[in-house]
Amino acid sequence: MLVRLTYFSRALRAMSLADIRDILQTARRNNAERGVCGMLSYASDWFLQALEGPREVVNDLFLEIADDPRHQDVIIVSYDVIAEPLFADWQMGYVSDAGEVARLLTELGLQQFDPPAMSPSQALAFLRALVELEHSAAA
Ligand code: FAD
Repeated sequence: MLVRLTYFSRALRAMSLADIRDILQTARRNNAERGVCGMLSYASDWFLQALEGPREVVNDLFLEIADDPRHQDVIIVSYDVIAEPLFADWQMGYVSDAGEVARLLTELGLQQFDPPAMSPSQALAFLRALVELEHSAAA
């Protein structure tokens, strides 16, 4: 059974690019081995992440992540059984206040990157739209 778990959390301290790279490197290695995919974004001291994969694997991984001392106040936004993953590959999004991302937030009726204020569907739409932005930037 495949599931998607989305959560947000607060970084214990401001993350540098090296900190984010470190998380990304571990996530890429472990998630590929475990058959998990998803999307992580970080801005304004908030993380927002979607994890997709087999139920037991996602559950275990989430418990591991939730225990990570780099963040706190971990809140599950949604947990759903899914037919197919929305995030084909592991990706990392960076949220800035500028340009496309600001437009994206406005489209979702949001002023800023503030995961506690997002509904489950807004959180998912935001992560999906980030993937598309990254794809179009890479094209
Ligand atoms: P290591 O990376 O060697 O870590 C061993 C232990 O040290 C773990 O308990 C870890 O939490 C802790 N640790 C590692 N680096 C630091 C550091 N710089 N500061 C403090 N403690 C540290 N992992 C995944 O596999 N997939 C994910 O999708 C994923 N997403 C994450 C999202 C966020 C927001 C955060 C904060 C972490 C995420 N991680 C993810 C990392 C995860 O929490 C564990 O660190 C990782 O699964 C453990 O990997 P490892 O067994 O290779 O051990």
